[in-house]
Amino acid sequence: MKNLRIKEILQLTPQCQEVEARGWVRTKRDTKNVCFFELNDGSCLENLQVVIDKNRVNLEKEIHRMNTGASVIVRGKLAPSPGKEQSSELSAENLTVVGEAEPDYPLQKKRHTFEFLREIAHLRPRTNTFGAIARVRNTAGMAIHSFFQERGFIYLHSPIITASDCEGAGEMFQITTLPLENPPTVDGKIDFTQDFFGKRTSLTVSGQLEAEIYASALGNVYTFGPTFRAENSNTSRHLAEFWMIEPEMAFCDINCNMDIAESFLKHILKEILEKAREDMEFFDKRIKPGLIDGLQAVASSTFARITYTEAIEHLNRAEENFEFPTEWGCDLQSEHEKYLTEKVFNGPVIVTDYPKEIKAFYMKLNDDEKTVRAMDVLVPRIGEIIGGSERESDFNTLKRRIAECGLRVEDYWWYLDLRRYGSVPHSGFGLGFERFIQWVTGMQNIRDVIPFPRTVKLAEF
Ligand code: ATP
Ligand code: MN
Repeated sequence: MKNLRIKEILQLTPQCQEVEARGWVRTKRDTKNVCFFELNDGSCLENLQVVIDKNRVNLEKEIHRMNTGASVIVRGKLAPSPGKEQSSELSAENLTVVGEAEPDYPLQKKRHTFEFLREIAHLRPRTNTFGAIARVRNTAGMAIHSFFQERGFIYLHSPIITASDCEGAGEMFQITTLPLENPPTVDGKIDFTQDFFGKRTSLTVSGQLEAEIYASALGNVYTFGPTFRAENSNTSRHLAEFWMIEPEMAFCDINCNMDIAESFLKHILKEILEKAREDMEFFDKRIKPGLIDGLQAVASSTFARITYTEAIEHLNRAEENFEFPTEWGCDLQSEHEKYLTEKVFNGPVIVTDYPKEIKAFYMKLNDDEKTVRAMDVLVPRIGEIIGGSERESDFNTLKRRIAECGLRVEDYWWYLDLRRYGSVPHSGFGLGFERFIQWVTGMQNIRDVIPFPRTVKLAEF
């Protein structure tokens, strides 16, 4: 008797093998002589079809207790299936209902909206879509590690609690142990010296600055961890808590950075298309027709590379009426990014050399003193998926830029030190994990590609 996952059982040749399967009942069809049910254990998308020949085995009591959603252990022989849907089915000898499901189990046969399923985040992983998303996330996570590990990058654990605001964008969640109803004050202001860390602290918005520290010692590193942004925008692409992958490479300029970002995305795409094939076919069929062909095309394409100035020229030549302005100096909005990838280049585009005013202080200033060596990777349907840059490695320029951006130079003493002791040209980027999963699954809303979404007014589970 083999105790296997359903994924393994379905790969066996159906020659009267004795197996035991454990899982949750998806559907049940009960007639006078025979009972069919579909069992899923999360190991794969496909269900195991189980047949109970009532004239041969007496399992009437168990069949009666076994509703949709119940957990069961079933034992029997694998046989070729007469149906077209599957190649083999299990002919039950024995059935144990481990946990009954009450009749109000919400996941009955009919298809539910993603909005409804968000309200039952504790049950939605038992649907085809959310099971597939969990498995694709897993495959993508492993592919991300394998890409870096095969290239000698060191996996770095950057802190979650931080005393620095990397982006200077003020989108941070503060953390404190001070009593909120009556915090200690000096001169009318909250006295953070009495707080746990003796100063103001927040949840990290990026592990980049810490990654730069380790890249300045170990060469190539990457982080892969949770990131927090108090984005007040209620979009389908922003979460308050999301996962980010941030490689940082020493002795690497913006061209090297673009090369790595491009081969990185292609590597994960190929891995997912190969290792999560069944789930990807489900997304292609049910969520976004043409998905696989589109991703396959990207995986074997060469990404277009243009400057921000060229991007603006493309937008100004467009016949489209954009909602947001397209003058030189304005930030690219999602509608612009989609136009560039979908209408102009029909594939991913890397945009470089943005105006310094719309990018972070740490990006390397170009000789024109107007633009910085930023590089954003834009993809069809999503827009920006990666944001990165070559970092400013010159001490004096960096110091000047920190001040120009209205930040306090003394807060960045350690960051400036990296430019005083053995500074090197270095670069890095950040890939939003959920943006990536959204892109590869074709899911419309970013809330549906993370197990437990946190967004404005939403932190239920
Ligand atoms: P956007 O303009 O889309 O808000 P950003 O410029 O703030 O992005 P970066 O700071 O460059 O983004 O972060 C790197 C990557 O992290 C982005 O390219 C995106 O994939 C992802 N990302 C950023 N903010 C969020 C968020 N709130 N939720 C999910 N992913 C995000
Ligand atoms: Mn943002």
